[in-house]
Amino acid sequence: MKNKNNRSKIAIIGAGAVGTSTAFSLALQNIAADLILVDINQMQCEGELLDLTDALETTNLPFLEKGSYRDAAQSDIIVITAGKRQQIGQSREELLQANMQVISSILRELIPINPNAIILMVTNPVDILAYLAQKITQLPYHQVISSGTFLDSVRARILLSHKLSIAPEAIHAYILGQHGDLQVAAWSISHIAGTPITSFLDTNALEIIAEKTKNRAYEIIKCKGATFFGIAKVVAELCRVILTDQYLVKPLSCYVPEFQTFLSMPVVLARKGIVQILKTKLNAFEQEALAQTARKMSELCKQL
Ligand code: NAD
Repeated sequence: MKNKNNRSKIAIIGAGAVGTSTAFSLALQNIAADLILVDINQMQCEGELLDLTDALETTNLPFLEKGSYRDAAQSDIIVITAGKRQQIGQSREELLQANMQVISSILRELIPINPNAIILMVTNPVDILAYLAQKITQLPYHQVISSGTFLDSVRARILLSHKLSIAPEAIHAYILGQHGDLQVAAWSISHIAGTPITSFLDTNALEIIAEKTKNRAYEIIKCKGATFFGIAKVVAELCRVILTDQYLVKPLSCYVPEFQTFLSMPVVLARKGIVQILKTKLNAFEQEALAQTARKMSELCKQL
């Protein structure tokens, strides 16, 4: 659904490092006609908008403005990036208590919500907060998504690319499950031009890449305090796929009926949201790891 001027509209709630980097990425690529930013810190939000507008002077500028929750609720895509970020050594799950409060209050402000809106949860822990978003807004499951392990999969592809001297775009590698320490490297379904990734690298080398992928955010946070460029690129890409109705396959977190919880699986993404969760043939080890992750996620969701 388009907004009143029949222009696509994306709202970003949380104009911090992730929100503004995402806005910058979206605007540079001209992904949405209208982009609104909402933040509890009005002054900060105003400054970010002025700065972003200066940077975009020479592009075919989307209409950028500071908005209210009411405006945000009527957008085509509502990206949620508000809340606390990880401190050095802190896990994403440790943010749950603090961010649950922030996200619950934001979601309540979004009601009544555009019935066709897609919610894209970015605030950590993403899987559990996406579950919360569905419960509070009551949007259909396929319209509530989190970026999940898309970023982790990108990281794995980059690490594989360095090892194999093959461009990341040519590498189909999937990290599934939780966007966190319980993620599962699905090497058994990863391949390059149909050749299994396990034919290129032995178990030991793949384990090292899986560990590095899992620890990448900790490493970045230790060096610079936050991660935002990678996730901004990922979120902009997801918005593009949705608004252009592309039916692309991405590893994203959504409600998986088989496990009765939110976790990342390869899904088909289009304007309606998630149109299909692909059935994967993981090996027994990965399948068990995914089931264990699902049990843990399910327990955490029950605590909400
Ligand atoms: P940040 O501190 O730079 O920004 C957070 C923003 O949220 C601030 O501007 C703050 O004013 C705003 N905010 C707080 N409460 C609010 C409310 N009730 N309404 C509106 N705005 C509110 O943090 P950041 O580095 O941008 O990180 C944001 C979130 O994104 C964190 O939870 C972080 O862990 C997460 N993150 C997720 C991924 C991913 O892969 N999903 C990657 C990086 C960061």
